[in-house]
Amino acid sequence: MTTGFVFHELYLWHNTGNAAMVFPSSLSVQPGEHVENPETKRRLKNLLDVSGMTDHLVSLKPRYATDDELARVHTRAHIEKIHAMSDAGGGDASVFTPFGQGSYEIAQLAAGGAIVAIEAVLSGKVDNAYALTRPPGHHALPDLGMGFCLFANIPVAIQHARAVHGLGRVAVVDWDVHHGNGTQACFYEDPETLTISIHQDNLFPADSGGLEERGAAAGLGYNLNIPLPPGCGDGAYLETIRRVVLPALERFRPDLIVVACGYDAGATDPLGRMMVSANGFRQMMGLVKEAAKRLCDGKLLVMHEGGYSATYVPYCGLAVIEELSGHKTAIDDPFGEALPHYGQMGLQPHQAAAITRAEALLEGIKAP
Ligand code: ZN
Repeated sequence: MTTGFVFHELYLWHNTGNAAMVFPSSLSVQPGEHVENPETKRRLKNLLDVSGMTDHLVSLKPRYATDDELARVHTRAHIEKIHAMSDAGGGDASVFTPFGQGSYEIAQLAAGGAIVAIEAVLSGKVDNAYALTRPPGHHALPDLGMGFCLFANIPVAIQHARAVHGLGRVAVVDWDVHHGNGTQACFYEDPETLTISIHQDNLFPADSGGLEERGAAAGLGYNLNIPLPPGCGDGAYLETIRRVVLPALERFRPDLIVVACGYDAGATDPLGRMMVSANGFRQMMGLVKEAAKRLCDGKLLVMHEGGYSATYVPYCGLAVIEELSGHKTAIDDPFGEALPHYGQMGLQPHQAAAITRAEALLEGIKAP
C-alpha cells in the first residue's frame, strides 16, 4: 500500500490576518488571531515528521493550477477578482474569507495540489493520497469565495481529471462539520458526481445543507445532505457512514472516491459543536477505504478541509493518514483516555432519527 502526500510550505503563508476567531479586529473586537490560521496544519505536518509517518508516504510535489484549469469550475470574473485583490495586498472574498498578498498564487497551488494528487491516484503511481493543502475549498462557489475558501480544490481536480484523463463517476464524501455548499453547487446538475455532506445542522452557511437540497435536472438525487444535531460523537458519525454513506456508495458505484476531510467535527473544535475523536475519524476513514477497495480498486483521495483546534487536529489527521497508509506509528492520542468517557459519545435516539431521515435519500441514486 502506497499513500501519496501533497504539502508545500507556501500553504502556511496564506495570510488570513488579524481577527478574533472570524471577526476582524476593530474598536469593539480586540486584535487576535484568525481561527483559520496556519497552526493546525503546521502542527499536523510536524507530527507526521516527528512520528516517522512522513517516511512512509510518497511525497507528491504540487504545482500551480492555471487559470484555464480553474475556469473549468469558476467564472473568469471570480478568478480575475481574486488575482487583482491579492496583487493589491489582499482583502475579503465575501464575508469571513480574508486573504493577503500572494494568496491568489497560494490558492492556485492548493488547487494544483489537488490535481497532482488525483493524477497520482488515477495513474496508479500511488494507491491513495492525502493532500494537506491550504486555503481549503469546499465552500467556494463558481463565482464567489466564501467560508475561508477561494477556489474549489476538489471540483477543479475532478473536472481536470475528466477533461484530461477520462475520469468517470466520482463520489465526494464531505465530513467537515460545515455544509459542503461549494462542492454541492459545482455538481448540482451532474449525475456523474455524487456529493454527500455530513454536517452540523444549519451551522454554516446559514440556511444551507437541508435534506431537501437533492440536486436538480439530471443531477436530481445525486446530492445527499445529512444534517446532524449538535452533540454527535463517534457513535452517530459511524452510524451515518454505515447506514447512509456506504449504501450510497454501493448504489452509485464510483470510479473514484474523494473525501473532503475536515476535522472541525472534532471534540475540541472552536467552531463545531460535535465531539468526534481521533479514533472516530480513524474508523470513518477505514470504512470508506474498505468501500473504495470493493468498488473502485481502492482509488481514494483525501483532501484536508477545515478543523481549527491546533492541539487536536494533528492527532485526528495522523489517525486518518495511518489508516489510509496502513502504517501505525507509536504516537497515541493524548485525548484518547478521556473522550470515550464523554456523555452521549455513543449513538443517541434523536441522532438515529436524523440518520433515518437521511437514509430515505438513498432511493434517488441509480446504479450506472
Ligand atoms: Zn468546516
